[in-house]
This record gives sequence, structure tokens and C-alpha cells, in this order.
Amino acid sequence: MISYGKQSINQEDIDSVVQVLKSDFLTQGPMVKDFEQAICDYTGAKYCIAVTNGTVALHLCMLALNICKNDEVITSPNTFLASANCILYVNAIPKFADIDPLTACISIKEIKKQITSKTKCIIPVHFAGQSCDMQSIFEIAKNNNLFIVEDAAHAIGSKYKNTKVGSCQYSDLTIFSFHPVKTITTGEGGAITTNNEQLYKKLLMLRSHGMTKDPLNLIKNDGAWYYEMQELGFNYRLTDLQAALGISQLKRLDKFREKRRELVSLYKKFLVNDNRFSFLEEKPYSDACFHLCPILLNFNEITMTKKEIVKKLQDNNLNLQVHYIPVHLQPYYKDLGFKEGDFPEAERYYKQTISLPLYFDLSHDDVQHIVEIIKDIVK
Ligand SMILES: *Cc1c(COP(=O)(O)O)cnc(C)c1O
Repeated sequence: MISYGKQSINQEDIDSVVQVLKSDFLTQGPMVKDFEQAICDYTGAKYCIAVTNGTVALHLCMLALNICKNDEVITSPNTFLASANCILYVNAIPKFADIDPLTACISIKEIKKQITSKTKCIIPVHFAGQSCDMQSIFEIAKNNNLFIVEDAAHAIGSKYKNTKVGSCQYSDLTIFSFHPVKTITTGEGGAITTNNEQLYKKLLMLRSHGMTKDPLNLIKNDGAWYYEMQELGFNYRLTDLQAALGISQLKRLDKFREKRRELVSLYKKFLVNDNRFSFLEEKPYSDACFHLCPILLNFNEITMTKKEIVKKLQDNNLNLQVHYIPVHLQPYYKDLGFKEGDFPEAERYYKQTISLPLYFDLSHDDVQHIVEIIKDIVK
């Protein structure tokens, strides 16, 4: 069975984890700091905090920015649940801005429409690995006194203009996810980057119960054993086992990036002239490390339903996913007052899209084989 995404683990990855297993620390040892430094080196950000997964990374960002009850935060409806759920975790109000149908990323025009006096933050999602138009979003944020948290769960290795995604040149914070379907993996895992020292220090505390042992930060000091809890935090730490895998995977990122771009080009070459299918655009400001390769089904040219197509592909060992069911159409969000028709571009996109298999260990022959099956099945 071929699915849409899959990790690539080589002997070096395995050896690096085994080495930690034989060391003194399984967690809270030297690997996490090294991984964080490697992410800073790669992205160009000043600070990095590795955490348990991408979802808690988003949660910590909301807390670090003091987003709270009655604040409004704008994100894309075309995303994984976590981009919006983090807003609810802090009792704030999720607002969605519809997508640009050419990129399936949040639309600049639609963001402007959603801003009110209660808006505090924008969470742009770099969909499929393509960076959002960050300079335009930065401009809106500056004019309206808003924070920006980039959800770059899809976009480690991607570039925006002459910056790496995660550099935080046009944002306060950026989050990554290292789930196995993402571009690099630590099993479960995530990270936050920032250039703001205050946010960094706050995130460090929140990651570990809101406590500190740093003599410089203690309110009083009873002795070497002494620690102080100054905020309500969590245990959102990454382990050294995971960080070791992350360091090893990060070394492979540029190879992953090259291969992913190559495979996307290949799919386009084979399918772009077939009027049953179309693709998203890559904008000139983007140089993506693609996480997904969505293909759009043009139902003017197709008589089968999407349900039938996906079932038939499954019968042919292609187990494809759809990214994404618009978040506002989830029952939980409908209970909050959202309804069908609220974000028509995201809804239209959902009806048309399927994600083609895209991962490092996929060969050119695999792509050719997949394309043949799809061309044969879709009628
Ligand atoms: C995967 C993903 C997340 C959540 O990351 P986890 O590590 O699975 O918690 C958040 N946002 C987007 C867009 C994602 O794709």
C-alpha cells in the first residue's frame, strides 16, 4: 500500500538514537540543546525551543503571547485542527480568513476583512510547504498591532524570498512539527523559533512546569536544590532520544528538499496537460520544500465522485488523504457557530483536492506507476 507520506530512516538515524540509549541521559541531556542549535543554524533564527509536538508548540505560543479570553486570533480554514484548536486552548476566539484558491494559503484580502478591535494575532499556515505572503501579512500586523505565529508544520526547509521559513524575519514565532508524515521526524516532536529573548525565556519556563532553577531568575534561593514555579506551565519537553533523531534528520533535510521538489515537478510534467487535473501555483516569493503534492480534480471533466475515485485508488493500493476538511465544518466548530458557506474557497478546494504520495523514498518509477493508475481510474 502506498500512502501520501512516510518517514525515511537510514542507518545513521538509527545509530544516533542507539548512541543516546547507551548514554547517561534519555531525556534532559545534551541532545535537545544540540538539536535546538541545529534548527537555529538552519533557519537563521536566534532562539529555538524543542517541544513534544507541533500542537503543544502552538499552545505555548498562545500562552507566551498572553492570548486569552475574548481575544480574537485569525487562521486559515484549510489546515490541520491544531492551528485553530490552540486558540481555543487559551479560551480565545478563533476567526478564519478564507484561502487564495491559487495557493490554498490564507488570503491577504480575507485577513483584512476579519480584523476587529479584538484581534490579537494571525496564524498563517504555510500550506503544503509553500510560504504564505509573509511581507504582506507582516504589514497588516504592523498596522493593526498584531502578533504573528507562523504554522510551519509543513514548511521546514522552505524558503520565503531570501529567508528560510522559521527565521522569524516577518513574525514573532514560528512552529514546526516532526510527526512522521512531515518532512523530518522525531517520532512525535515539534519546535518553536523566535528572535525575541523575552518570548524565548517565557517559553523555556512554560515547557517545564513554569519553573526555573536559574539563580539569576529566582525570587529567593534556599540552596542548590532550590527551584521555583513562577508560571503555570506543562511538561512539553522533547526527549534526548528524539532530539538525536532530529539532529540526524536535519542533516538530511536539503536532500529531502531536493527530492520532494523533483517528485512534484515529475507529477506536474505527467499530469499538467490532462484537463481532468490541475495543481496549485508556486508563487515567485516561495521556494518550497513541499510537504504535500495536492492534485485538484476538475469535476467538469470527470463523471465519478471523489468518494468513488478514492475508493478505487485504494483498491489499487494507493491510500491517499485529503488535506484538509475545512476546520470550520467540523462538528465542534459548527457548535461554535460556523457553517457551510462561510469560507467558500476553502470548501471548494476541499471538494476537489487529493494529496498525491510524496516522500523521500519514492522513486521516479513509483511516480510513473502512480500516475498511470490515476490516469486509468479517473473517469
Ligand atoms: C501536523 C500539523 C500540526 C500539528 O503537529 P503535531 O506535531 O502533529 O502535533 C499543526 N499544524 C499543521 C498545519 C500540521 O500539519
